[in-house]
Amino acid sequence: MHEPIFSLEVFPPKRDAPVGTIYDTLDGLEGLMPDFISVTYGTGRRSDRTATARIAKTIHTEYGIPAVAHLTAQYADREVIDQALDMFDDAGVAAVLALRGDSVEGREPAGVFDHASDLASYIRSRRPNLSIYGACYPETHPEAASPEEDMEHLRIKVDSGVDHLVSQLFYDNADFLDFLDRARAAGIQVPIEAGIMPITNEGQVRHMSEVCKARIPAAVESILERWGDDRASLREAGIIYASQQIADLVAHGVDGIHLYSMNHSGVTRRIWHNVRHLFHQVGAKEEPVSSQK
Ligand code: FAD
Repeated sequence: MHEPIFSLEVFPPKRDAPVGTIYDTLDGLEGLMPDFISVTYGTGRRSDRTATARIAKTIHTEYGIPAVAHLTAQYADREVIDQALDMFDDAGVAAVLALRGDSVEGREPAGVFDHASDLASYIRSRRPNLSIYGACYPETHPEAASPEEDMEHLRIKVDSGVDHLVSQLFYDNADFLDFLDRARAAGIQVPIEAGIMPITNEGQVRHMSEVCKARIPAAVESILERWGDDRASLREAGIIYASQQIADLVAHGVDGIHLYSMNHSGVTRRIWHNVRHLFHQVGAKEEPVSSQK
């Protein structure tokens, strides 16, 4: 049995948020020892292009955890990507997660990198030894004409140099396990991490489900109906639901779990506390006793 990966995602604080909030998040995650922490990259006009590299550097140098920097393509030209790669070199990132990126209404794409695979090929040409990660969609990307077409695009992405995939969030493990079978049948052999986003807020679940077309199964619907107006209970039910999802996925032998922390270190710690022995059982690292609270 292979050792499953456990990784986390954080995002740079919004421009008007106090800059220290990311340190609070990272301090709150200290001791969890994930295999890596990935840092998202904004596509908005007001996004700070240096934030991802700066936070990745902090994760790597100050917290001693491998950092993965997201990088989006559709509004960038080669110069912007080259600058980002230089910043990521300086930050000592373990990998770049190459993305097309979210579309921003009213903003015209640069027309240089249309798809994540174009960015992956370019990064591969500029940094032959850098590990390149990519995104995948268990329930099919919302813009794809069919699951088969989306899978073919994923195969092209992997052939362009992507050596590790991280999935979009999903709430029903059956959707991910079915996707995994289809990906393997399509000849995609790279590790595929399952993306889990804990339920903490009804509005956010409904919004994400609308934007990402992530199906809300009956079990999640019941939780939202019962505790949608009671944030504290919803958070508890969400921690239990995510922990059960992870336990089931690890039991099925998945390559890894990527937890969308949403910068909520408390929820992330609680989930890790619930599942860490499942990872330990199959050989993964354990949180040092000194850091257990
Ligand atoms: P692509 O792989 O390019 O796919 C987008 C669409 O194009 C799909 O429908 C696909 O089928 C189609 N397609 C792909 N290749 C081809 C081709 N060769 N020919 C024709 N069609 C093709 N967004 C951000 O802005 N910042 C982030 O940091 C960020 N991080 C993310 C992390 C993860 C793990 C995930 C799952 C998503 C993330 N996103 C992020 C959101 C992501 O940018 C959006 O989902 C976006 O719509 C698609 O990006 P992609 O890289 O998957 O695109």
